[in-house]
Amino acid sequence: MQQKFMREAIKQAKKAYAIDEVPIGCVIVYEGKIIARGYNRRTTDKNTLSHAELNAIRKASKKLGDWRLDDCEMYVTLEPCQMCAGAIVQARIKKVYIGCMNPKAGCAGSVLNLLQVEKFNHQVEIETGILEEECSSMIKEFFRELRKKQ
Ligand SMILES: [Zn+2]
Repeated sequence: MQQKFMREAIKQAKKAYAIDEVPIGCVIVYEGKIIARGYNRRTTDKNTLSHAELNAIRKASKKLGDWRLDDCEMYVTLEPCQMCAGAIVQARIKKVYIGCMNPKAGCAGSVLNLLQVEKFNHQVEIETGILEEECSSMIKEFFRELRKKQ
């Protein structure tokens, strides 16, 4: 089940890849079904808020008609940044499944763990390493190609 949903997140990441964006994708699951999808569109939208996770949170909230996503789980191909981790906590998302970690910028345990700060009113469960190899090789390939182009 987890791999199935991560595979859907990878599909989203590939949409980003296809438009020369860093391939990061995300889906939000509610009651066993995907209710929102998102992928990185930062360069396309010329907007730093256009991360995969925020795009998906926006859609999920619209779908459920609520800013609270209490019973939702997120699948994301790369460890969330500080902004997205903040939004995940604010949205009260229950659990985040992560493909690969981001040692230089991740905020689900790498640089910081903003998802599980005890003093905040909400902590998010984390499970890492879902289809890790696939998620990390996709990003590595993207940057390898980018370097070739330059
Ligand atoms: Zn982010």
